[in-house]
Amino acid sequence: MARVGVFICHCGANIAGKVDVEAVSEAAINIPGVVYSSHQKYSCSEAGQKVIIDAIKENRLDRVVIGSCSPKMHENTFRKTVQQAGLNSYMLEIANLREHVSWVTADKDEATKKAMDLVKAAVGKVSFAKPLTPGQVPVEKRALVIGGGIAGIQAALDIADMGYEVVMVEREPSIGGRMAQLDKTFPTLDCSACILSPRMVDVAQHPNIRLLTYSEVENVNGYVGNFNVIIRKKARFVDERICTGCLECMGKCPLKKKIPNEFENGRAPRGAIYVPFAQAVPKVPVIDKEYCRYLLSPDPDKVEVKEGEKKPKRKCGVCAKVCTQGAVDFNQQDELISEKFGAIVLATGFNLFDHSKYGEYGAGKIPDVITALDFERIVNSSGPTEGKIVRPSNGEKPKRVVFIQCVGSRDEAKGVPYCSRICCMYTAKQAILVREKLPDAEIYVFYMDIRAAGKGYEEFVLRAQREYGANYVRGRVSRIYESNGHMVLKAADTLVGMPVEMDDVDLVVLATGSIAREDSVELANTIGITTDNHGFISEVHPKLRPVEVPREGVFACGACLSPRDIPDAVATAGAVAAKVGVLFSNDILMSDPMVAEIDPLKCAACGACVSVCPYSAITMEEFRGKKFAKVNEAMCQGCGTCSAACRPGAAQLKGQTDEQILRSIEAVLQW
Ligand code: SF4
Ligand code: SF4
Ligand code: SF4
Ligand code: SF4
Repeated sequence: MARVGVFICHCGANIAGKVDVEAVSEAAINIPGVVYSSHQKYSCSEAGQKVIIDAIKENRLDRVVIGSCSPKMHENTFRKTVQQAGLNSYMLEIANLREHVSWVTADKDEATKKAMDLVKAAVGKVSFAKPLTPGQVPVEKRALVIGGGIAGIQAALDIADMGYEVVMVEREPSIGGRMAQLDKTFPTLDCSACILSPRMVDVAQHPNIRLLTYSEVENVNGYVGNFNVIIRKKARFVDERICTGCLECMGKCPLKKKIPNEFENGRAPRGAIYVPFAQAVPKVPVIDKEYCRYLLSPDPDKVEVKEGEKKPKRKCGVCAKVCTQGAVDFNQQDELISEKFGAIVLATGFNLFDHSKYGEYGAGKIPDVITALDFERIVNSSGPTEGKIVRPSNGEKPKRVVFIQCVGSRDEAKGVPYCSRICCMYTAKQAILVREKLPDAEIYVFYMDIRAAGKGYEEFVLRAQREYGANYVRGRVSRIYESNGHMVLKAADTLVGMPVEMDDVDLVVLATGSIAREDSVELANTIGITTDNHGFISEVHPKLRPVEVPREGVFACGACLSPRDIPDAVATAGAVAAKVGVLFSNDILMSDPMVAEIDPLKCAACGACVSVCPYSAITMEEFRGKKFAKVNEAMCQGCGTCSAACRPGAAQLKGQTDEQILRSIEAVLQW
């Protein structure tokens, strides 16, 4: 007969404020198998853990139930506690009395009753628990960094500096990310490219970093310390090993001014063969197969030619003719690269809100209504206007410039409910840049609130107002329209409670908010992790484990987690590097023993488990003519899907067996 001890935690007033913990503890002693029951203010505290350890020893307990907060918080803590008392750490069950009861139940009696039921279920389940032993797996001390923006760059450099090999995968032709598109950074006003470019070069030259640009992660298998990753290196049609970066080819492409350049946010053209920007790393062009005349023309070897007709010729091919190195290779194919890694770092960045949803601002229709990213390129000396702030409609200097904040952010009706955290600050910076370049311009900033929580941020916004004369107007702009060749803006000043109408506005800059990348959910699915309801990568715990995601060995940093500025992106990248360093300091890792096992005698060899396992951890085997399914415990992630799919009950998850689940249900119904 099992000897179960029950420990009910008050969690301060978190649980005790809604659940009668004394009553739950008293009721628990009457549950069959329970020989000890008590309650503590904080079970996770040192004193609380000592109570548990002493009680286990004094009462010769062989199983423990703790009624506390979510196992996500303290399961590991309590496993170590019971282990210290001499028990196998898996002879423990946690009844979640906080997230599942006190925080979600209004009535105290109902909450107490539910808490009693959950404790009964936990006792029923733990009574059938068996000791489990973690396995041992070796660690492949190589890291994959996905994303080559500032966060990915920092993480890669920090990990590489620790002496570990890093492969950086970037889907664009160059690393640099969003930061490469910016002119200056707040609040120091230093040139973005001047800070970033040396870091990009460091990545390219670091002996421990291998850079795969124009590449995407296609498949991830395996587990912490041993991920198998397939990377698609897209055909660039230029051989990186031969190209010298002279860029002769770009100048001769007949389409050189015909295609909108994504790096310039479409405000300058590029050719079919191009590097996205002057400081690109690697400085090797890529040919855009959607536009290239040669690649779009039919392959003469595949065209059927009637007798007497001439074989058609490929069009163009000029870039290949002018390249003295012979680096242009129209026959290049996508390459699939298979690599092994011990850790994966996500640094895939963010996107900007689509401003065309704000038709009332004339976005996409009135040429002098632009986005903040457009402004960054326009004000940049290597941008489409060589740094001159001009109206897109006529190329003249604007006399009256209006900035509108929170476009898409904090707008549940049209945009997203959250604050994008960077728009107040970059707007203040852009207002300062206007004043520096156009000393006589009138500058207005329409805002809802100013959110400037960062070192030197509040002072920076005040400087924009006081030193640089930006007029801040608290209020929402309702409409922007053209009338007789003038741009008119209507708004409400909510501080003075008056409507505002502004004629002759020359340039409007929309501070579009940050959103998750459009492919973030797909990437998360590929890696086997989750996103929040806005598409940002979910962390294990926002406060305690902010750069870890719920798949061991996978980490995330920068704006793929949530909107953040450069200092925060760099800080999280450093944190990720430290986590990877800790992981790689082990030669061997202990693997979670709560994995599936299959009883070959019960297995009907139907194959259902093989087809449902999301981690390809099950294979069919044969012994003396009998087929059966077998789990690779190192690959199993303990998701339990196979167990649910197995009709004869041959597949069972250790620590969550059918017997344990049924026993916990019976406990609630019978006891
Ligand atoms: Fe590279 Fe040849 Fe183009 Fe020069 S001409 S950049 S070597 S592909
Ligand atoms: Fe441009 Fe012609 Fe080269 Fe295509 S083949 S990239 S169109 S120069
Ligand atoms: Fe695959 Fe089953 Fe393990 Fe889930 S529990 S990973 S389905 S073997
Ligand atoms: Fe065997 Fe069950 Fe898998 Fe079917 S689902 S192969 S019965 S373990």
